[in-house]
Amino acid sequence: MDEFALIRRYFQPLPQRQQGACEGVSVGIGDDCAVLSVPEGQQLVVSIDTLVEGTHFLTDTPAEQLAWRLLGASVSDLAAMGATPSWLTLALTLPYADEAWVSDFSAALAEASQLYSIQLVGGDTTRGPLTLTAQVHGFVKTDAALLRSNAQIGDLICVTGTLGDSRAGLETLLTKSSSNTVVEYLRQRFYRPQPRVSTGQLISAYASSCIDISDGLLGDIQHILDQSGVGAQINPEALPLSAEIQHFTDDKTAREWALSGGEDFELCFTVPPEQWVSLQEHLQNHDVQVTPVGAICDEAKGLQLFSQGEWRAVAANGYKHF
Ligand code: ADP
Ligand code: MG
Repeated sequence: MDEFALIRRYFQPLPQRQQGACEGVSVGIGDDCAVLSVPEGQQLVVSIDTLVEGTHFLTDTPAEQLAWRLLGASVSDLAAMGATPSWLTLALTLPYADEAWVSDFSAALAEASQLYSIQLVGGDTTRGPLTLTAQVHGFVKTDAALLRSNAQIGDLICVTGTLGDSRAGLETLLTKSSSNTVVEYLRQRFYRPQPRVSTGQLISAYASSCIDISDGLLGDIQHILDQSGVGAQINPEALPLSAEIQHFTDDKTAREWALSGGEDFELCFTVPPEQWVSLQEHLQNHDVQVTPVGAICDEAKGLQLFSQGEWRAVAANGYKHF
């Protein structure tokens, strides 16, 4: 099957099957470019992410899981801006035209894009080492994007959901743990990140800064600290851990993974103390847990963890590619 037939069969039909897709698509897949309109009073936010075989995923990872990881990770960037997802473009580099692979990938992509309310509007298909790139687009109200650069001394540091599960899920794969409900839960957390889109939107009226946790809490909060010119104190005992991770490993390892494990795709955000009470009220009927884990402090303190009765400096040790 040639490139054009592949696109026609597996990608062009995706948007048509999608219910409640975003408005504003004058031209989608099939022309040289997509033609798109941004709603009045809103700004376009754009982010791109690449998964390379051998670097970001193990060889022989099922196509279905790659589609969920790719889209989950990209949409998580939109969530961290407080944005509403709208459009997706997809660049696929494939070693050969494996129709079964493309079929599985496109079916999962259809499901994931439906769930995240994002519409495929274009892409590129080439031959080479397996590489998947998603560019996601979304909207924020003009000047309302949640940035990394506005955290202030005294702000609370909060995280969504539970941390470390994805790292634990990876461990179950590396150690070939035999399947049980705990192992399956952790694997799902690794394969299917749940971008916190609704939480990002909910907190955007209260939070002073936000980032999604893709490289580990310590590594990622460092970006907020650098861009806001502040320091942070985090209490590892306060980190939210799932019952599953606590079942899977000892407390010390679980907290290390919660601090430094990558790819949780939870949000880490800062809230001025005077906003905290009203934010908590708004979170009461929200289905995602939000947990305060520390506070923003003076830049001179750097990044500190509470350990053995005192605050101690840490070197940020998020996973680095280079
Ligand atoms: P061009 O040669 O102008 O780059 P292509 O032949 O690469 O055009 O693509 C033809 C159309 O198919 C374009 O609208 C492009 O956006 C779309 N397309 C190509 N690959 C994909 C893909 N993997 N997913 C979605 N749309 C794709
Ligand atoms: Mg092209």
